[in-house]
Amino acid sequence: MKINILGAGPAGLYAAILLRRTRPDLDISIHEQNPPDATFGFGVVFSDQAMDFLAQDDPETAALISPHMMRWSDIVVNHPEGRVVIDGIGFSGIGRLELLQLLQERAAALGIRPRYGARVEALADLPAADLVIGADGLNSLVRGSDPQAFRADLTEADNRFVWYGADREFDALTQTFVNTEHGPMTAHHYSYAPGRATFIVEMQADTFARTGFAQMAEPEYRAACEAAFADQLGPARLIPNNSLWRRFPNLACGRWHAGNRVLVGDALHTAHFSIGSGTRLALEDVIALVHALEGADWDVAQALPAYQAARQPVLEKIVTAARNSAAWYEGFGEHMALDPWHFSLSYIRRGGRLDAARLQAMAPGFAAELAARGIAPDAA
Ligand SMILES: Cc1cc2nc3c(=O)[nH]c(=O)nc-3n(C[C@H](O)[C@H](O)[C@H](O)COP(=O)(O)OP(=O)(O)OC[C@H]3O[C@@H](n4cnc5c(N)ncnc54)[C@H](O)[C@@H]3O)c2cc1C
Repeated sequence: MKINILGAGPAGLYAAILLRRTRPDLDISIHEQNPPDATFGFGVVFSDQAMDFLAQDDPETAALISPHMMRWSDIVVNHPEGRVVIDGIGFSGIGRLELLQLLQERAAALGIRPRYGARVEALADLPAADLVIGADGLNSLVRGSDPQAFRADLTEADNRFVWYGADREFDALTQTFVNTEHGPMTAHHYSYAPGRATFIVEMQADTFARTGFAQMAEPEYRAACEAAFADQLGPARLIPNNSLWRRFPNLACGRWHAGNRVLVGDALHTAHFSIGSGTRLALEDVIALVHALEGADWDVAQALPAYQAARQPVLEKIVTAARNSAAWYEGFGEHMALDPWHFSLSYIRRGGRLDAARLQAMAPGFAAELAARGIAPDAA
């Protein structure tokens, strides 16, 4: 059986690994436009739940990645009027490049060597295959080959964000909210390696318009971001890497397959970065696809609808939480009128899935602090 995979990001590499591990006889080619050491962005985070899921389904990959991760158990919310610690919500961070290198090594150990620097311009240019896996990210060529069949729906959020690194460590997944002369700004910042952090700056569209950042060169708006978050950065500097202002793309597809083509990861869907799930979802999609292929005895025509039927309901819960989270951020400036404790409660419940009992179980210290202040856990 011959399989073409487009893209050697987390989804494409992982697809090759799982397929080869499951069936060593498969003839797998991966086509990647970039060199192996190219990466955009810095670190990614996985929630503890995501790592548990991976450990259950694929303990080898979980064991490969885990030692390279930085782990922390608290979320810190910095509100202009005070700092609140939300305990018990564990996350791990890893550099995106390091994650890709680990997956590349594992793929190489299984005899898989992606063709790097090989941009595919048209699917017709690829050798014939029984299955084509579109792991080619947001601007997927595979999805674009037949947008009507995949029923893609792509819209952009209003907020503007820019993705930087920073040369310092933070001891928790931190969300900092500041008031500036132009309006409220927020930073999502977390470490992913010793002395290194991801630092994403976000603001609402009206604030962005007032900053004039759209008319500035990158070093100028970087300096303004460093000034806005000087208290968090201390002597550290922001590190650019293709750091352009973007609007988060919301992508969903009504149909996940067309003929022998199937989508996984960012080619299929996005989930707002504030819930740190994009990479996890990509890996889980691949696990579901390989299960479906095995379940259908490698009959592609049967397996692809089975993949969508099994995976879509699970995915939609996370995507809904991500959309709710994104919607909360679209109004974060208004939420900042709350005091730090009500604000933090509103923040942690923004996904819409955390009732009072779950909050108590997950974050007992935070729940106790709320109780001591007479704040009901479902007040926000
Ligand atoms: C600001 C920001 C912060 C994020 N933070 C997190 C986080 O904390 N945690 C998390 O889990 N996720 C995070 N994500 C999301 C994460 O980056 C993606 O969800 C994840 O990389 C998806 O993996 P993928 O393999 O599906 O796609 P990609 O990583 O986009 O890989 C697709 C690959 O396909 C290649 N390709 C595309 N077209 C072609 C072609 N025509 N020919 C050959 N190759 C091609 C590309 O070069 C690329 O290597 C964040 C995203 C953003 C924007």
